[in-house]
Amino acid sequence: MLTNIPAAATSVTSTSSSPRLSMVAAAAAAAKSNFREQSNKALLVCQQQPQVRQHHNNNRVIPISSAAAVALPDIARVLEEQEVVDIERLEEELNSASPFEIMDQALALFGIDIAILILNPVCTCFSEDVALIEYAHLTGRPFRVFSLDTGRLNPETYCLFAEVEKRYNIRIEYMFPDAVEVEALVRAKGLFSFYEDGHQECCRIRKVRPLKRALKGLRAWITGQRKDQSPGTRANVPVVQVDPVFEGMDGGVGSLVKWNPLANVVGTAVWSFLRTMDVPVNALHSQGFVSIGCEPCTRPVMPGQHEREGRWWWEDAKAKECGLHNGNVNGAASNAISEQMVEVADLFMSRSVSNLSRGEMETLVGKNKRSKSSLVVLYAPWCQFSQAMNDSFNAVAEKLCGPNLMVGKFRADREQKEFAQQALKLRTFPTILFFPKNSTQVIKYPSENRDVDALIAFVQAFQ
Ligand code: SF4
Repeated sequence: MLTNIPAAATSVTSTSSSPRLSMVAAAAAAAKSNFREQSNKALLVCQQQPQVRQHHNNNRVIPISSAAAVALPDIARVLEEQEVVDIERLEEELNSASPFEIMDQALALFGIDIAILILNPVCTCFSEDVALIEYAHLTGRPFRVFSLDTGRLNPETYCLFAEVEKRYNIRIEYMFPDAVEVEALVRAKGLFSFYEDGHQECCRIRKVRPLKRALKGLRAWITGQRKDQSPGTRANVPVVQVDPVFEGMDGGVGSLVKWNPLANVVGTAVWSFLRTMDVPVNALHSQGFVSIGCEPCTRPVMPGQHEREGRWWWEDAKAKECGLHNGNVNGAASNAISEQMVEVADLFMSRSVSNLSRGEMETLVGKNKRSKSSLVVLYAPWCQFSQAMNDSFNAVAEKLCGPNLMVGKFRADREQKEFAQQALKLRTFPTILFFPKNSTQVIKYPSENRDVDALIAFVQAFQ
């Protein structure tokens, strides 16, 4: 439902010639430091009717596509009728709407001041982002598309860019990283520093900063984020929100709205839509790639693995956000993660799986030879990769547990993490270890294929 607010409650900067459409966070002027709590209460305000939509053409603003430069009577009508939109209320109203309806609403409200981000190069899959373009195309409204070319993409991805431009008769508005920053990073640390000290620095230079520049030319953006992409960090993705991290054209708190039309859609449904509509997809999918980003940071996954295991596989699941959606892991959302760490159901609850204590683990890695072999998973219940192997590990335990083998689990996050890293070879969750009988050796399961047959073959290799 749309709500008028008194002029005194708004704080809007304006220019005399351009139509005013601006976001004002409720109480933002008085409580800027409390932004995260307030951000969802932001209000969308149209101060004057858009007689002439003026394109902001400065170096922070990406050019609009020719398709977007047509008259927008619907938008004008909407803005005439709606002075204020309560984004929180809008989110409630659209929460059960289809991606098509959400897209239509987003384009109607923001016109040329909104753009679709495709190949959100780490956080979503380019092919799935193309679904956003298809939905936008189907609305019949003009739309803009932008992307971040990190310089590290696969050739197949560039081919898909070209195919998409042709199919939809658009020009994608590319953003590139700052050459001086890239040079400084690569000269100081080499081309693959992210394998050593994490992906954040490289992503910040190649994606986050170019994204910030792009968003400074917009009042809203559309992403392909979905709740099911990363249960640890995206479980609370709303279909529309005041952007909790970035600023838009007008600058400051509440100046940008973020739309996630696919938030409530599962990956299989997106793929079904892509197939039904015969939308072009990345050729890498036929080689086992699911979620495709930069070439050095993306790899194929095996059946049963979570799609996010194909991204930054050398890092913990919780670190797998690129900075583009840090709002997911900051503020309220990070609280949600903490809560998940407390409240999420435990894993590996089969009666054949022993719940091992710290003392029992210390005994297993002690200096005395063992009288019995053991298979143990080091896990964290909030980790989606641990969750993904719950059934297979339980099945293995039920099959193999007996006089010659103990199958156990050890929760290795929180206060146990340091011990697990130092004594148990933990790098990421889950880690599977085999402790052979009559030995003090510890053998780490090397594969990410964690299905029943593979795990049984691993154990039988040592028995
Ligand atoms: Fe750099 Fe990898 Fe991030 Fe791409 S995904 S910007 S290559 S760290």
